[in-house]
Amino acid sequence: GATIGVLGGGQLGRMMALAGSNLGYRFIALDPTPESPCGQVAEQIVAGYGDKEAARELAKRADVITYEFENVDAEVAALLEQQSYVPQGSRLLYTTQHRLREKRAVEAAGARVAPYAEIGSEEELREAVRRLGLPAVLKTATGGYDGKGQWVIRSDEEIGPAYAELSRAGTELVLEQFIPFVKELSVIAARSPHGEISTFPVAENIHVDNILHLSIVPARVQETVLREAERLAARIAESMEAVGLLAVEMFLTENGELFVNELAPRPHNSGHYTMEACATSQFEQHVRAVCNLPLGDPALRTPVVMVNVLGEHLDAVKEAVVTGRWGAEAEGGADPAGFRVIPKVHLYGKNGSAPKRKMGHVNLLCGDVQDGLDFIQQTNIWRNQNS
Ligand code: ATP
Ligand code: MG
Ligand code: MG
Repeated sequence: GATIGVLGGGQLGRMMALAGSNLGYRFIALDPTPESPCGQVAEQIVAGYGDKEAARELAKRADVITYEFENVDAEVAALLEQQSYVPQGSRLLYTTQHRLREKRAVEAAGARVAPYAEIGSEEELREAVRRLGLPAVLKTATGGYDGKGQWVIRSDEEIGPAYAELSRAGTELVLEQFIPFVKELSVIAARSPHGEISTFPVAENIHVDNILHLSIVPARVQETVLREAERLAARIAESMEAVGLLAVEMFLTENGELFVNELAPRPHNSGHYTMEACATSQFEQHVRAVCNLPLGDPALRTPVVMVNVLGEHLDAVKEAVVTGRWGAEAEGGADPAGFRVIPKVHLYGKNGSAPKRKMGHVNLLCGDVQDGLDFIQQTNIWRNQNS
């Protein structure tokens, strides 16, 4: 079988390698952390992402190259494109690395984004706040994740401190109008090099402290919203000529409008539910797309709630695994009320657990999403996560 090189060795690369090896592919990851989550299930070159010598070696050893994060150094991306086959190309990366370029691409595809302004100075920020109103969200244009690199400005007094804090990153800044959403949704689209497009069912996402806590599928919104969200994601993937996965995060407002928040050109945390709940997982779909195989069936086979396992939840989740406690609950044995829930645990094998660090996730397959939500309440592991 062919060898797929992955830039990055985190959990996304790991799950990609696990899914892709079932299709007969071999994997080699490039990551600076020895025994990375991906390196534990595939080969690994231990080197920094910007290391050109290591990138050349990856190009030599892999037939196809993909990535599991978007902040790939532009020079390295170009080098890999020259020396190997990078079906996703470097343009998709270039666009999604920068919030302004990304917003323009989303608008060009005919989708709505929150009104925004490019910010180059504190004066420009004051002017933009006058124009867009408060609250507004100031974000670094590059490099942010899990809410790092952003500040929700609620009063004029915060303009100075917010600018001082975020401008320290040394990147451009973007100010966005705060969208008073009723729900956050995401859709993962897949597109193959010859233009076949497929979308996964819409996920309803609940964040706590800006970190994804739950994905609920089917999303509890009207059918018309589901269809529109899927249509938007497909249109953006088409318009950008994306190859592989493109995750589209959206806000739904009270009057039923959808605003695109941001994109990710890779498997996405809000798509982890697909692993057991869909006929094809997002990871298999990504491998299929970048290898130019026919795309798999994305159909949902069961309602599901995905809950993230952060550092502070890890011990309790491991305990549930080794004692088989959840097995009994799933059978209704531990609780007379009975849970019609099958918990599927995925731990990433990261060395070094820390609060707020993503260490795994659990897919709760259920008869109805409310059963999954009740199960989470009942286990107490996530009780401090007010959702
Ligand atoms: P991720 O970990 O998803 O990459 P990120 O750090 O890139 O996150 P965003 O997705 O832009 O950040 O924002 C994080 C969260 O902050 C959003 O999921 C949403 O809850 C809230 N948020 C961001 N922008 C806005 C906005 N314009 N209006 C309202 N809420 C917002
Ligand atoms: Mg982001
Ligand atoms: Mg986000």
